[in-house]
Amino acid sequence: MLCNKNIVEMDICIIGGGLTGLSAAYSLRGKADITILEKKGGLGGCLSSSKAKKGYIEDFYHHCFSGDKNLFELSESLGILDELDWLSGSTGYYVNGKINPLTTPLEILRYPHLTITDKIRLGLLTLHSQKYDLSGLDDISAKDFIIEKCGNGVYSSFFEPLLKSKFGDMRESVSAAWLISRIAIRSDRKTGGEKLGYFKSGYNTLIEALKAELLKSGCKIKENSSAESIFFNGSGWEVNGIPYDILISTINPSKLEEKGGPAISKIPYQGAACMAIGLKKEVTSGIYWLNMKDDAPYGAVIGHTNFVSPERYGEHIVYLASYFSEKPAEDLKQIMIEDFCRRFSVAENEINWYRLTVEKFAGPVYTKGYKKLIPEYEKDGLFMAGMFSLPNYPERSMEGSIIAGKTVASEIIRKYTI
Ligand SMILES: Cc1cc2nc3c(=O)[nH]c(=O)nc-3n(C[C@H](O)[C@H](O)[C@H](O)COP(=O)(O)OP(=O)(O)OC[C@H]3O[C@@H](n4cnc5c(N)ncnc54)[C@H](O)[C@@H]3O)c2cc1C
Repeated sequence: MLCNKNIVEMDICIIGGGLTGLSAAYSLRGKADITILEKKGGLGGCLSSSKAKKGYIEDFYHHCFSGDKNLFELSESLGILDELDWLSGSTGYYVNGKINPLTTPLEILRYPHLTITDKIRLGLLTLHSQKYDLSGLDDISAKDFIIEKCGNGVYSSFFEPLLKSKFGDMRESVSAAWLISRIAIRSDRKTGGEKLGYFKSGYNTLIEALKAELLKSGCKIKENSSAESIFFNGSGWEVNGIPYDILISTINPSKLEEKGGPAISKIPYQGAACMAIGLKKEVTSGIYWLNMKDDAPYGAVIGHTNFVSPERYGEHIVYLASYFSEKPAEDLKQIMIEDFCRRFSVAENEINWYRLTVEKFAGPVYTKGYKKLIPEYEKDGLFMAGMFSLPNYPERSMEGSIIAGKTVASEIIRKYTI
């Protein structure tokens, strides 16, 4: 044990004001003296939002799923559950310059880029996806698994472009556990598309409600405050020279190690570069989630206002989603917007605004054997929870980060309640 204080006498520092940090602070509020350090000028991390023409819009597209029990409990406890709407999310695939809708069974039957046999194999895989034991799929690559179950055709014309757009050069090392979990979660759909959750005023509602409740309970929230050095002083941890009894880190463990944290297995991370565009017109034929098979500098076009009504924003909004492993191209913003305008026939005067958000640590890459890399919640008296924690395996999510924050808080409460 670090120190023999009771939790009520403790100063706890949380590094990171994303959903994990806020969720941990929410569970610990009123039980200890809490300080959150957030390096950016606002809270939310990957779930941050920026001002739109009307209201706020997430910097990275977000929706929740019907099984996100902890997100619902948290929202209920914050008094915002009634704000959550359930909307239909349609999907499509952009192939050879053409948008192919893929939401209804008839649309899938009409899709010309897979044979009937391939469609049957894909359908069976989707049906069985909920039943697979994911732990047995962690050491198998998604590629080998799909080729074995569905054949080369389904892999090369359907899954490979999706894996490429999400993981780039690392696509062949991604595990089948990741892929099957994604298929399982996305296969919960009715004929009009899957039902996905979105707050009436966006996920900013959740972040703002958490912030307000934390401030009300006396929690100190320091924005624009990066934890630059951490140091164990024999009885607790010093962050930027200030002593705390307990430290919870929610950032990439390799970054923490650079700042003085413990050495643990390196979690492979990737970055996201996502462009949000405010438009005068609709461009994805009514589709919410349009995957790109053609070679574009983005892997999906997310027609946000084909999910949430455009009236809410007074304009149409799309996202261009791309991921990178090292760093994004210097001129990515220009490359993306030019490609988008050309491909979707958008004139300059039809664009109200566009903004590129880049996050270097946007999520782990779930490579083969990833599960063995997941760290414990505590290492050398330091608590760690985040996108790399078990509840975020085999895909990170808001739900996973809320559980990770809650779990690390319960660990601390259990250990230090005398
Ligand atoms: C493009 C994209 C789309 C997504 N879409 C969905 C979706 O539709 N549904 C869903 O459920 N999930 C989605 N997610 C995942 C979800 O956003 C994340 O799982 C969750 O928000 C992660 O929260 P976190 O607190 O664990 O990590 P982060 O959000 O990364 O929070 C970590 C925080 O630590 C801060 N920080 C870093 N270094 C320091 C430092 N040295 N000092 C102080 N602060 C520091 C960062 O600025 C950040 O605010 C998406 C993520 C991305 C990137």
